[in-house]
This record gives sequence, C-alpha cells and structure tokens, in this order.
Amino acid sequence: MRFDVFTIFPRIFDGPLDESILKRARERGLISVHLHDIREWATDRHRSVDDYPYGGGPGMVMMAPPIVSAVETVLGDEIATTPIIALSASGEPFTQAVATELATHPRLALICGRYEGIDERVHLILRTRQLSIGDYVLTGGELAAAVMIDVIARLVPGVIDPESLQEESFTSGLLEYPQYTRPPEYRGLTVPEVLLSGHHARIAEWRRQQSLCRTRALRPDLLERADLTPADRRLLEQCSDDV
Ligand code: SAM
Repeated sequence: MRFDVFTIFPRIFDGPLDESILKRARERGLISVHLHDIREWATDRHRSVDDYPYGGGPGMVMMAPPIVSAVETVLGDEIATTPIIALSASGEPFTQAVATELATHPRLALICGRYEGIDERVHLILRTRQLSIGDYVLTGGELAAAVMIDVIARLVPGVIDPESLQEESFTSGLLEYPQYTRPPEYRGLTVPEVLLSGHHARIAEWRRQQSLCRTRALRPDLLERADLTPADRRLLEQCSDDV
C-alpha cells in the first residue's frame, strides 16, 4: 500500500515512520510512504504557500494552487481512483471502521493543513474526504496523518499478526478487556485467578464481561451501538462499579 503525503514540514515524519512495526513494514515493501513538500509547487520566488484570509480574521490560509498542482502532478492518471484525504479538525471522525475501508485501497493521498487551514477550493477541485482524528485542534495535519498511516498500515495484510486484530478495541464494537503478563503478583496486586486457570471457555467469558463492563463505564456511546446477545446482557448485569 502506498501513501502520498503532502506537507510543508516533511521532516516531522522522520520519527514515527522509522521505528518498530512501520519501519519493518516499509523495509519489507508492505507499505511505502512518499513525502511531497508542497513548497516545491509554489510559483513565486519566496515559495509562498499561504496568504491572508478573504473577509479578514486572524492567521493565514494555505493557498489552493500549490496544493492542487502538487496532488495532480504526483497522482497523475491515478487521481480518479485514489482517495484524497484532507486532515481537518472539522472533518468526519476517523474511526477504526473508516480505517478498515481505507485499507482496501492500494494508494491514499493525505494533505496536511497548517495555519488556519486550507482554501476551500482545494476540497472542491480534488474532491477530498475531510477526516478528523479527534475533537481537538492540532497545530498541523502532520501528526494526524502519521496517526492515520499507523492505524491503516496495521490493517495491511502481513504487517501484524491477524489474530492481534481480531479482539482489540473497536474491532468488535467494544473496548478491549484488561491484559496481564508476568509476574503473577506485583506490589500486592495479583493477576485474576481465571487467567491462570487454563480454562479457555471461562477465560473467554471473563474477557467478554470485562469488555462489556469497561465499555459501559468508559464509552457508553459504543455500547448503545453494539450488537449484544442475551448472554452479553446477563454479563452486563453482573458488572461491579469499579470496572
Ligand atoms: N482553523 C481550523 C479549525 O478551526 O478547524 C484549525 C486549523 S489547525 C490550527 C491547522 C491544521 O491542522 C488543519 O488544517 C488540519 O490539517 C490540522 N488539524 C488540526 N486538528 C486536527 C484534527 N483534530 N484532525 C485532523 N487534522 C487536524
């Protein structure tokens, strides 16, 4: 899978893409990330990419021509088939479901905004899909793009063990259950007995109940949308207040 990232700060991506799973995925050719400096498509001698907002107001706005030229040049004939994502605080939420859909495409373009944002005509001309990584405002789209690449890359076949994807938070519509590893006792806190029992059915039921109780406590919005069985509802009735 290929990511084309359009930014005025390509060096921000140096860290996140050069370690651990993403680094290995790139080395193995499972994903590739191509960084394009929007300034290369600026046309004046100062290589300007921003200007004052029409109508007044604080800050600067990223100009349309350098971004549109950059994306059109880099994507070429594939522009019609490549989803063009604009990172935007006011976009639709970027969720695991959106990531799963995007991971089916062989190529994605990501446009990182800065300043007060991007001239609206970029979205109209390139038919961007505006996505937000959360209800807060970042200084720029680069960290949001790195988050998105990380989330989508995990879903590309071969990048991580497929079993790891099955039970984790959001995949099933619920938050994940608590995890424990050695030692069995630490500072007086012991691992729940059931996890040491080797009894697979009881472990599965305990984990399901923990997922349900945790989701109800921390993300009741997810629980409302979840597809619950009668057995799930019984497990929910037994949640204690401290989960
Ligand atoms: N004036 C904009 C607003 O109120 O929505 C905020 C602009 S922000 C300072 C600059 C850039 O950071 C945006 O163009 C976008 O690319 C990126 N950005 C900020 N918050 C984001 C978020 N929650 N998700 C995705 N991108 C974000």
